[in-house]
Amino acid sequence: MSKPVRGTTKVLGIIGYPVRHSLSPLMQNAAIQGCGLDYIYVPFEVTPDNVGAAITGLKSLGVSGFNVTIPHKTAVMPYLDGLDDSAVASGAVNTVKNDGGRLIGYNTDGDGLVKSLADDLDFIPRSNSIVVVGAGGAARGAIAALCRAGAKQIVIANRSYDRAADLASAMSARFTGTEVSVSTGYADLLVRLPHIDLVINTTSLGMNSESIPFLPLHTLPCTAMVYDMIYSPSATPLLSEAAGMGLKAANGLGMLASQGELAFTIWTGEIPPSGLMRSALDAGL
Ligand code: NAP
Repeated sequence: MSKPVRGTTKVLGIIGYPVRHSLSPLMQNAAIQGCGLDYIYVPFEVTPDNVGAAITGLKSLGVSGFNVTIPHKTAVMPYLDGLDDSAVASGAVNTVKNDGGRLIGYNTDGDGLVKSLADDLDFIPRSNSIVVVGAGGAARGAIAALCRAGAKQIVIANRSYDRAADLASAMSARFTGTEVSVSTGYADLLVRLPHIDLVINTTSLGMNSESIPFLPLHTLPCTAMVYDMIYSPSATPLLSEAAGMGLKAANGLGMLASQGELAFTIWTGEIPPSGLMRSALDAGL
């Protein structure tokens, strides 16, 4: 039974545009209920030209915290009062906590990915070699977290080489314990993939049944694993091909649940019951 909304109820939410597709209200309210807390989590559809006004409004209204989703993850940063290291390293914010009137930005996407890799693939980044496909916001957060988790080597494979090169040099400067390099394309990956432990797709390729044209998956060793951040559809062409090769593979639903769990703990100090958010997502999908 959810608690009735009262004068004491604290407000959490999510800003994005559009936001109506978001599954976060479903899983966050399930966790609030599961922990018996006096909170409510609501969606706020905020157009790009209203981001600054929305942040000022949320602060004035005293909301306890909120998630930030596409396309505002970078745009919110100048309006916040402080940034956690996770947000600085990934150059994006997906979680904001109201800390006594100061809005502090965090990024839980990367650590959510690392947790999902452990839960869903039994994969630990430490001392492993990883190909990250893509060089956008999701790739940035992922690479920062994989470096923090001790990955030996990360190869960025992206459609636009220059964007990947910029990301590789930013990450190399920040995380000296991981070798971060850029792939020049299909022929280069033919040589590299036989030595790779994990491939992660961070692009939107696969949402509409597209395969990744520059990825010769068949050259991966049979011990390699594949992770796709996309969770809808649940099986992209990449995941189907990996499964066809007998490789261990997982979609991004676990990452969505884990980043949400980490955000929930930042706001409330509570750890949601194990598997509750994931079950809420499964039911919602
Ligand atoms: P983004 O910043 O716009 O980056 C998009 C990336 O995809 C870029 O590397 C881009 O390459 C590449 N790309 C897009 N269309 C392409 C195409 N037709 N061919 C080749 N490459 C293409 O987006 P993002 O924020 O990183 O998000 C990317 C994906 O991650 C989305 O599908 C999102 O849903 C998913 N995601 C999932 C979770 C989760 O919890 N599971 C969390 C965050 C994000 P260029 O640089 O060449 O443009």
